[in-house]
Amino acid sequence: MPEVEITARRLTTAVEGKEVESALATGVATLKTFDPPLDALEGGTFKGVRRIGKMLAIDFDAGTELTMLVHLMSAGRLQVAEKRASTKDKRSRLRIRIAGEGELRLREFGTRQSAWAKLMPTGGVASDEMVATLGPDAFPPPPLEQFAELIDQPRHLHPLLRDQRTIAGIGRSWVDEILWRACLSPFKKGSEIDDDEVKELHDALPLLGNVVKHYESVIGETVPDKLPMPLQVHRREGEPCPRCGTKIEAVFFAEHQTNYCPKEQTGGRVLKDRRLSRLLK
Ligand SMILES: [Zn+2]
Repeated sequence: MPEVEITARRLTTAVEGKEVESALATGVATLKTFDPPLDALEGGTFKGVRRIGKMLAIDFDAGTELTMLVHLMSAGRLQVAEKRASTKDKRSRLRIRIAGEGELRLREFGTRQSAWAKLMPTGGVASDEMVATLGPDAFPPPPLEQFAELIDQPRHLHPLLRDQRTIAGIGRSWVDEILWRACLSPFKKGSEIDDDEVKELHDALPLLGNVVKHYESVIGETVPDKLPMPLQVHRREGEPCPRCGTKIEAVFFAEHQTNYCPKEQTGGRVLKDRRLSRLLK
């Protein structure tokens, strides 16, 4: 969430009020809609960019109100470039040319094309399946009682908190930080934690807002490809826990990992590394 939020804020400053010259989808499967066509944006005006969960919504006034809903997935970036990219830029998936100079472009790093965009009437955004199914946003956090109800599910906290239908805006990096802050195991179930633990978890959520504040102070006009994420435990296996000095451990999954402090989060237990146990089979 904090990365998407700062992106929305900086992009709004960069494009608000500017005119769209043309729009082009260069990624094979990036644009998931065909009606209205991308051409409908030509001659329109950028109204701004806002965050919806982990997605970005670019609003346009193009005779009618249109919105482009974008999900960057794990490797996408939405950036304003002063110079237009060469048509050979393999990372470009979608380009919206700004009248005069420059373009707003969706680029994707890595080989997979998973970032996507949908163009729709602004009035249709709320009922889009990706938006309509979102739980309450994590920033600002929902009230404690509502949060307690949301997470009262027999699922591990790590996937539960990342489930956008439960609570929106928490990704793979920040869930580790939130659980570490709350001293809770990623493998404890939402329905198993007591009232005090629910409160600890709820109290940890404002760290997302603090990260946005951090980005506000360190990021200039443009958001860099690699953000200076102030992570304390995520991807820090082998390093000492910043709070107690115990070695940070990791559990690896196919596409992500979770890091934790065994002393403070799992009662001293080092959890089985699933990657390792798979290799040993
Ligand atoms: Zn610790």
